[in-house]
Amino acid sequence: MKAICIHEPGDISVLRYEEVDVPEPGVGQVRVRLRAAGVNHRDIWVRRGSTGPFSQPLIPGSDGAGEVDAIGAGVASWSVGQKVVINPGLSCGTCVACTSGNHPACRKFRIFDGTYAEYAVVPEENLVAMPGGLTFAEAASIGIPYVTAEDFLVRAHALPGQTMLLWGATGGLGLATLQLAKLRGLRVMAVTRSQSRSEKLRKYGADDVLIYNSGDDLSDSVMSLTQGRGLDIVVDSVGRESFMQSVSSVTRGGVVVTVGSTTGGQVAFDLAKLFRSRVTLLGAFMGNASILPRILPLFSRGTLIPVIDNSFPLEQADQAHEQMENHGVLGKLILTM
Ligand SMILES: [Zn+2]
Repeated sequence: MKAICIHEPGDISVLRYEEVDVPEPGVGQVRVRLRAAGVNHRDIWVRRGSTGPFSQPLIPGSDGAGEVDAIGAGVASWSVGQKVVINPGLSCGTCVACTSGNHPACRKFRIFDGTYAEYAVVPEENLVAMPGGLTFAEAASIGIPYVTAEDFLVRAHALPGQTMLLWGATGGLGLATLQLAKLRGLRVMAVTRSQSRSEKLRKYGADDVLIYNSGDDLSDSVMSLTQGRGLDIVVDSVGRESFMQSVSSVTRGGVVVTVGSTTGGQVAFDLAKLFRSRVTLLGAFMGNASILPRILPLFSRGTLIPVIDNSFPLEQADQAHEQMENHGVLGKLILTM
């Protein structure tokens, strides 16, 4: 089969389009003939080696959709030809965290890699039936961003009427957070570096759009838009460049969600800003296995809208990474195979 393989960490040139063996499903596993893969920021971290070393060539990619192609021994819940979406959180399935529905707290929790390929083998419990009304590309665009956003909105106790500031609103995670927060009845202030994207952000539900250039301080705008009260929730995937503003813009008892650090992860701040104001700092990384099957039907009903910026054939995975790293996205980038 054709696949994108990484032999050593590095820039986009390490994404090699190669011929590799078709994987065989083992006990309890299912092989999927992938038709589309979603590109996530995580794939860039994997490519650069930031998520850990790999001893053998690695096929990146966590989100994907396709058709069941073969089933391993003992698989009863799937049959060849069914359309499926990969639920990319892997965990042991037997520990207290797993059996109580808190999979990301499992000590063996990790995120699946391997959807930049024509075939992938996954545990049968990591598949979700693909609802009607969605294309493979749309189905592959949902996993990580929506599971992550829904999980942290639940943990942040997001409530109707609350005000949220959303950094990096135009990315895949940003648009997922925006749509899910609007569904919960929050007022969302979306931050983007691009004036040209503000109309699109409003179309997907943003109540206010704040244009940000590196070095800007948005605190005054936030305070003015909230009549001096501050924010209930800030969602920060930017990191070093924005984090201090996030902490100082949140109201008493509010929540700062940290879900990425695209500008760097090292920050220094006065802890008194947290404890005196009873602010919760909430780390977010993926989410419960139950979320994807629960939210997928909302896409076929049109309650949530998959937003695809651009699609590339598998062999142009390097071009997709290039766009994500250097030109930004409005929604998701998709690879097709
Ligand atoms: Zn477990």
